[in-house]
Amino acid sequence: MQPFVQTSPPPPDEIKATTCYMCACRCGIHVHIRDGEITYIEGNRAHPVNRGVICGKGASGIMQHLSPARLTSPLLRVGERGAGEFKAISWDEALALATQWLGDVRRTDPKKLAFFTGRDQSQALTGWWASQFGTPNFAAHGGFCSVNMAAAGLYTFGGSFWEFGEPDWDRTKYFMLFGVAEDHASNPIKIALGKLKARGVKIVSVNPVRTGYNAIADEWLGIRPGTDGIFVGALIHELLRTRKMDLDYLGRYTNAGWLVIQSPGAADDGLIARDAAGHPLCADRMSGAVVNAMSGAAESALTGSFTLADGRKAVPSFTLLAGRYLSADYAPEHVAEASGIPADTIRRIAAELAHTAFQEAITLDQPWTDWTGKRHATMTGRPVSMHAMRGVSAHSNGFHTCRLIHILQILLGSIDCPGGFRYKPPYPKPAPPPIRPAGKAGKVAANTPLGGSPLGFPMGPEDLLIDATGKPQRVDKAYSWDAPMANHGLMHMAINNAATADPYPVDVLFMYMANMAWNSSMNVPAVLGNLTAKDEATGDYKIPKIIYSDAFASETVAYADLVLPDTTYLERWDCISLLDRPISEPDGAADAIRQPVVKPNRGVRPFQEVLLDLGARLGLPGFVDAGGRPKYPGGYADYIVNHERAPGIGPLAGWRGADGKSFGRGAVNPDQLRSYIANGCFHMHHLPEEARYFKHANKAYLEWAVSVGFIGSAEPVIMQLYCEPLQRFRLAAQGHGSVQPPERHRERIKTYFDPLPFWYRAAGSGQRDDQAFPLYAVTQRPMHMYHSWGGQNAWLRQITNENRLFVHPDLAAKHALGDDDWVWLASATGKIRCQVKLMEGMNAETVWTWNAIGKRSGAWGLSPDAPESQRGFLLNHLIADLLPADAGGYRYSNSDPVTGQAAWYDLRVRIEKCSAAEVPEISPKFATLPDPRKVSL
Ligand code: SF4
Repeated sequence: MQPFVQTSPPPPDEIKATTCYMCACRCGIHVHIRDGEITYIEGNRAHPVNRGVICGKGASGIMQHLSPARLTSPLLRVGERGAGEFKAISWDEALALATQWLGDVRRTDPKKLAFFTGRDQSQALTGWWASQFGTPNFAAHGGFCSVNMAAAGLYTFGGSFWEFGEPDWDRTKYFMLFGVAEDHASNPIKIALGKLKARGVKIVSVNPVRTGYNAIADEWLGIRPGTDGIFVGALIHELLRTRKMDLDYLGRYTNAGWLVIQSPGAADDGLIARDAAGHPLCADRMSGAVVNAMSGAAESALTGSFTLADGRKAVPSFTLLAGRYLSADYAPEHVAEASGIPADTIRRIAAELAHTAFQEAITLDQPWTDWTGKRHATMTGRPVSMHAMRGVSAHSNGFHTCRLIHILQILLGSIDCPGGFRYKPPYPKPAPPPIRPAGKAGKVAANTPLGGSPLGFPMGPEDLLIDATGKPQRVDKAYSWDAPMANHGLMHMAINNAATADPYPVDVLFMYMANMAWNSSMNVPAVLGNLTAKDEATGDYKIPKIIYSDAFASETVAYADLVLPDTTYLERWDCISLLDRPISEPDGAADAIRQPVVKPNRGVRPFQEVLLDLGARLGLPGFVDAGGRPKYPGGYADYIVNHERAPGIGPLAGWRGADGKSFGRGAVNPDQLRSYIANGCFHMHHLPEEARYFKHANKAYLEWAVSVGFIGSAEPVIMQLYCEPLQRFRLAAQGHGSVQPPERHRERIKTYFDPLPFWYRAAGSGQRDDQAFPLYAVTQRPMHMYHSWGGQNAWLRQITNENRLFVHPDLAAKHALGDDDWVWLASATGKIRCQVKLMEGMNAETVWTWNAIGKRSGAWGLSPDAPESQRGFLLNHLIADLLPADAGGYRYSNSDPVTGQAAWYDLRVRIEKCSAAEVPEISPKFATLPDPRKVSL
């Protein structure tokens, strides 16, 4: 008899569940602890995001937790700003000082506080804190990340990619991927791509660089950067030309049939025709009568010209759309020239999309009821799906490009249907969500909350945050004529604008986890200059006080006056909330928590707890009780359980109610966190089968979404092919209405606020001189790292600790370059020295590199001569923060003119081989930063 051998003995460890934070996917993890030390991290097999999968980053979280770069106590600057000279102070001193600085601002003019955060996953709290403080100057990192994607989606169909929705991975038959970096949507997309591969689903990737996900695509289109929009426009052209569209879907779920007033020069030109009650009008397809498009009875005509009761002419928006994309501008031959993708390929891809959508349609035997009450026996879907990210959105034409992708999806009828793209609850929201930005002129007052959210969705000029002269009311100029639909703010402009007092100076700049002194800023030397600029007369810093919270000794720490050290993600409570950006799946709503799996062993505090403490010390409404005592004395865990944003609605949706049996809405449950922990730190509420598709028009879904507080009413979400708010801005620029742009903005608004998306050359950077700078330059982040956090991780650094400039062999041959040769890369903004690596799988007119590998010497606890600072380089030094002055001398930010999204990928460069003498020269060279913890006095 064989002896029994235990092949997988349970480890003698204590194992605690929590949620990973090594990237933004938020996988469930199990952390092994022995003798109080973390020994191992593995994936949680029951977790809906990763189903047990752990990636290299996630497993390396242990080294993030043990990082030599961790800050250890609050720091007060004692030397010049930027010198990195600090003394350690106690938390009592630090919080007293912060309270004094912030209190002085709130008592006088709250907008003199600029509060900006990075990819922190607690924006439901930070935004509320800003609102209660009373400053409109709040945003998270979206303005310099992917606001174009979010804004385009939310204005078009009340959703977007990633946290807002995803392909129907189990049913889709054709998948297109646009501009997706490898560190984003990491484990979930890898698991999903594996499923597609196993089923033999065709994957088409559109990306100038063929790495990561693009490398496993069946077809890779190495597009010229910034031309995705015209490529998609050509696909739309082909679908229209060949009449391959889901006309039924367009009539039922979109505004394709809504009538658009045609009265050139008049104040209503281009607006949607409405009845006296405000309902949009359409023309009945059979009778031609003009009727309420939302009656549920009309079958709208999509083409033709109609006369309204008052004699005005109007046409269905689809007629305008067809006219736009059937034009020669979007014909494949023309587009091939602009994008570098052959006309035959464009025609073939369009035909493949149409074939899959219409010849391979999927029908599920699942009855459902639409919003009108009509019962349907089945659910039929167009099994084409798409996913896009920062590569398409981080251009100055990104908003319209992202809208074009959605128009393509909608024409195919592939939003929230079997096999198509699917919303994740709490999406869809009305398009756009009914939240307007607060902080209008005259509404920001001392000791007064803001009266609403600092971030929202303007519907027209009357929602802008400007004064009577058109002057911006936010320091980053969000929601002004510079960037009217800046739904995520413009964090990348806050430092420049504050230092130059344009539109006004601030007293306190308060930042969390955003490395604005290095890899989160364009034109880093200019930003450092602004952080250290002094008033010539007084010698005081132009930004008088900077408070910064970070867990690590990043480059930005040296530029702060007061440093509030954060914990690592394994030492604190966190809430991944449905009020923010949750972890839902298309089949259900899900949220999650992090619990502290170990206690901090140094003088650090979780930032969220510090924010609650500061809120209480400042006496902010909602942060103190009637007696002025802290409302959440138990810290963030106390807030997560007991805070209610509206009656019965709090940060966590699961296990609500006194008995813990309610979802979404319900009384506070003191045992809520215990229930989450017992369930692996997440909660998933599955939708009934009949509510899983067509959520935008599905009665069962919409009524449930109202019941749990996701939306205000069970009205259908009508997809906005034609985006009327854009036309309202354009009419203002044409001289209509009481809120009009100052003269210098008029042409820009007229041009870019087109209600139908269009492609224009991403020339906005003004750096574009094709002769002097003939190459495109882009970055990607490596799959094994995320932002700059990964670059300091002892395990992940062993994979990549210096980056290369990837160059196509054809381009290399022109410059006589080989692997590891050194080159100068120059733009209109500056030049950097970098080392070359030849690569076949890339657009030959483009160079690219890994982002966030290059670090400043001395930062992140790395040795001053670490490869990251000696051989690594940062492309940001070449990217303009401001465009060249226009004819009137005004300098816009280097951003999308609609949303203010940072136009990182508009960069144009030239390459020159370094001479032998130049090779040792690090350029640009910045002084080595001292370790802020070692110089403490
Ligand atoms: S994909 Fe992201 S969240 Fe998931 S394990 Fe990897 S690093 Fe963690």
